[in-house]
Amino acid sequence: MKYSLAFSAIAASAFAATIPADAHHHIQRRAADPQPVCSFENHTFKEDSSAWDSISPATSKRDLKVKTWNPPSNIAAALDSVWDHEMKTYSNPLGFKNYGYDQVLAAKGKINYCVRWEGNAKVTEAQRTKVEVAIRRAFNKWMAVLAGFEGWPYATVDVNVVGWAVNDASILQGDVSKIDVYTDKDDGGVPQCAESCGRFFNQDGNYAGCAKGAARHYDQSIWLTPGLGGGAGGDWGQRVAQEYFMENLDLENLHIVLHELGHTFALDDFYDWTPAGVTNFVMNAGSATEITEFDAWMARDWWRHLKTQRGW
Ligand SMILES: [Zn+2]
Repeated sequence: MKYSLAFSAIAASAFAATIPADAHHHIQRRAADPQPVCSFENHTFKEDSSAWDSISPATSKRDLKVKTWNPPSNIAAALDSVWDHEMKTYSNPLGFKNYGYDQVLAAKGKINYCVRWEGNAKVTEAQRTKVEVAIRRAFNKWMAVLAGFEGWPYATVDVNVVGWAVNDASILQGDVSKIDVYTDKDDGGVPQCAESCGRFFNQDGNYAGCAKGAARHYDQSIWLTPGLGGGAGGDWGQRVAQEYFMENLDLENLHIVLHELGHTFALDDFYDWTPAGVTNFVMNAGSATEITEFDAWMARDWWRHLKTQRGW
């Protein structure tokens, strides 16, 4: 656990230099403004154990048994202020229709992933299996806090990696018969699975142009970049450092991935403000290592509003 926290601090120091402002602009499109490029400063975590003790109640106490909009009284006002802030600062917050909620419903509880593998490090079959398990686990951490709330229909989502995008097919070692291997590139020369098969590029859900067939389309990308500082997330997927992801595959909570997935589910960053009375939560980058009660209710707030607005 401490390793991942230390890595976050290292990542933050390299942050500014690693994502050119104009790179991959189209892929970072999201309803929210500012763009979700996330840094993870180690501003709350300390290496000494007493600091851990002091934050553990904030992250471990989660009362999510209530399945209607009746959040704990100590966070209700903060949730309202977050919602108001999002409505004021997102462009077209309720009209945007490619949030994670939209995607899970459109895909009927089955989400397909593409892994965008930058660089030339080889990947074994065993590593690929672990990557799939890790993103499946992370995605379902968010599903678990929505399960049964105000009619959210999926306690778990069937998350599968259907494709790997690499610079050269030889990067993928072992049996690749169960995945689609792509060497397509985006405008910036970064490997990506075929646009014709991607939800981001086909938000009407029409994958007629996908050579592998509609069943092999992908809804999300997990984009793994060597040396990336911080991360990014949106309706297209999540981007984190390749080293962070691969060296922490077995962690129960990949907190940077959880944070970026929060953006996929419409949640905001908290770099310029934090709601009164709430300090440690995964969307406040670097302040928590798991989805907290407050994170959960922020996601629930989105679902209840979208459900009403969409007529679900
Ligand atoms: Zn962020």
